Amino acid sequence: MHLSVTKLAITVTLCLLPNCLISAKQPNILFVFSDDHSPRAIGAYGSQINRTPNLDRIANEGAVFKNSFCANSICGPSRACILTGKHSHMNGFLRNGNRFDSTQTTFPRLMQDAGYDTAMIGKWHLSSDPVGFSHWEILPGQGSYYNPDFLQMDGSRQRFQGYCTDIITEHALAWLKEKRDPDKPFLLMCQHKAPHRNWAPPPRYYAMYKDQDIPEPDSLFDDYSGRSSLLSENEMSIRNHFYWGHDMKFHGDSEFPEHFLPNLQNGEYNRMNDQQKAAWDAAYEAENQAFLAQMRAGKLTEKEIVSWKYQRYIKDYLKCIQAVDDSVGSLLDYLDQSGLADDTVVIYSSDQGFYLGEHGWYDKRWMFEESLLMPFLIRWPGVINPGTQSTALIQNIDYGPTFLEMAGTNVPEEMQGRSMVSMLHNQGQPSATWRDAIYYAYYENAAVHNVPVHDGVRTDRYKLMFFPRSREWNLFDLVTDPHEMHSVHADPQYAEILRGMQQRYRDLRQLYEVNSATIPATRGDETRWRERDAKITEEAKNSKAQLAFIGDSITQGWEGAGAEIWNKYYKSRGAINLGIGGDRTEHIIWRLTNGNLGKIQPKVAVLMIGTNNTGHFLQDPQEVSAGVAKILDILKERLPDTKIILQAIFPRGSDEFDEKRLNNVAINQLIRRHADGDRVRFVELGDQFLEPDGSISTSVMPDLLHLSEEGYRRWAEALEPHLVDLGL
Ligand code: CA
Repeated sequence: MHLSVTKLAITVTLCLLPNCLISAKQPNILFVFSDDHSPRAIGAYGSQINRTPNLDRIANEGAVFKNSFCANSICGPSRACILTGKHSHMNGFLRNGNRFDSTQTTFPRLMQDAGYDTAMIGKWHLSSDPVGFSHWEILPGQGSYYNPDFLQMDGSRQRFQGYCTDIITEHALAWLKEKRDPDKPFLLMCQHKAPHRNWAPPPRYYAMYKDQDIPEPDSLFDDYSGRSSLLSENEMSIRNHFYWGHDMKFHGDSEFPEHFLPNLQNGEYNRMNDQQKAAWDAAYEAENQAFLAQMRAGKLTEKEIVSWKYQRYIKDYLKCIQAVDDSVGSLLDYLDQSGLADDTVVIYSSDQGFYLGEHGWYDKRWMFEESLLMPFLIRWPGVINPGTQSTALIQNIDYGPTFLEMAGTNVPEEMQGRSMVSMLHNQGQPSATWRDAIYYAYYENAAVHNVPVHDGVRTDRYKLMFFPRSREWNLFDLVTDPHEMHSVHADPQYAEILRGMQQRYRDLRQLYEVNSATIPATRGDETRWRERDAKITEEAKNSKAQLAFIGDSITQGWEGAGAEIWNKYYKSRGAINLGIGGDRTEHIIWRLTNGNLGKIQPKVAVLMIGTNNTGHFLQDPQEVSAGVAKILDILKERLPDTKIILQAIFPRGSDEFDEKRLNNVAINQLIRRHADGDRVRFVELGDQFLEPDGSISTSVMPDLLHLSEEGYRRWAEALEPHLVDLGL
């Protein structure tokens, strides 16, 4: 599929349509966006657990998209995908804690250029300030539910008394009524904190659901069998990972730390004034004390405790959503009263879905349906017929291109999403050239909730997931197994489908230019790696090393089989070893930009990396070469005066036709070109380890990959003239 051709087709089609005039008029866009709102908690998506009359109004008067997905199921990254129309690896915001590069092209900037008055009010969560808005006021970081602070455009911070969802709504209405330029079309992004953790509801809904139980999902007691072994490492379960104060709203210290994690208080309660606290306690304390009395009496089973936690959690969550629904109602009412409704496109979405007890979880991150899906409701008077339903596969990277086409301006080539405008004119029916699969990637491992890096593709029926750490595939048939309880990747009946989905996976990664070798990756979710990484960072802090070795297990092996040789050649030169077994290029990229270089300014750095990119995935040599190039760029930026010895990857395997050896040979041919003969010197020592017939003696490489002491001796001897030549 060629994007520019498709875009051209859309533009032409659009102008042949009779309602072309409407889009030419530049509609206003009201984009209401919340945080962590699962479609399962929206009436228009068939909720069985709550009612959302105002959100449903958008769907009833417009369209609901049933197959709406995020590209990366976590707060900041999803927002960056929306703003840029690009997947995370292209916009650089891979994980919460990253800082959004606001020099990038975003749809609000382009809409401003196209004549729109633009405003952003509410939760931003991208670290850098908003760009592309004539007006913004944002919550700092996650913000607060009670008496929230807002960062202002002049750099000040103002506190407002009351409930965050209501305050954001009031400020959005104030901008619409008093602050915007009435002579321009507007883009208003009204972005709620709710219903994000810790789910602190507004006083008017404290009593909601008081005497009723919310039905539990079927998979609340999931045992994680039949899927990736990494699932059971999660730290996001209702059973084990709720805090006593923060999540469950008890005061004081955890009385039952085996059931409720201690040490995280309900920060919202601490922000309240006395009156607010009194109302809160009146609502929560009777129920809390009744439960604790039962706990102290030992009357509750493990299962009953989990069920109680689920009720506490889901009710607080749903009550927060009720205020978001109220917000939407107020905004829709204002559009009606002001006469703006007919000229305004209204969209409701949220940054991802959420687990409402499914798989025993709260939170998001995984590529399973509950957090992969995100709501997308849209009302576009005169274009979308009321009550429209679409099953087209759409994604958050499509929003920017869609808004830009609505605004009658060009969608830049660099945006990876596709405008939905022609599909909206066609009542949600996608054209034959619309996508048949979406790509998803999650990168925030070694962080809160302990979810591993994974990516995958989803079609209308199947989902393929890949876990790089365990190198496992999971395949789900969403028709026979809608709750994704059993992977069929090893089922012979699905062999053809697995092959086809793996091909789609490769195709989409190519389309979106996903090269894992260049995407910074931590292995901090592996204890041994985390400890060695920390040790290197500690050593590099104060090291005055003149020589640094950077690489994987072959480099780390200087501390094992090569220790004697190291002592002889390098110890007196104060060398430092930055090797970690199992690392690929992407891990070196992470380490060199996350502390491993410390304060070292070595005269020479010896780099050898890539044999695990070969060994783990037989990765395309072009991709690995790009990873090496990125490492060289980082070294150039951070160690401008250091000479780099870029080593060819050593040969491996039993003979010259070993496929992994051949892959390394191909990588070497490419990385050779990264040497400039001055700062970067390419050194190929492969022959030192080969017998005349091309085989490798086990006396040099016992496992045909790692060096023996004799191997390290040969490496040191061959390297020595280069080190001397470079002044060591
Ligand atoms: Ca979120």
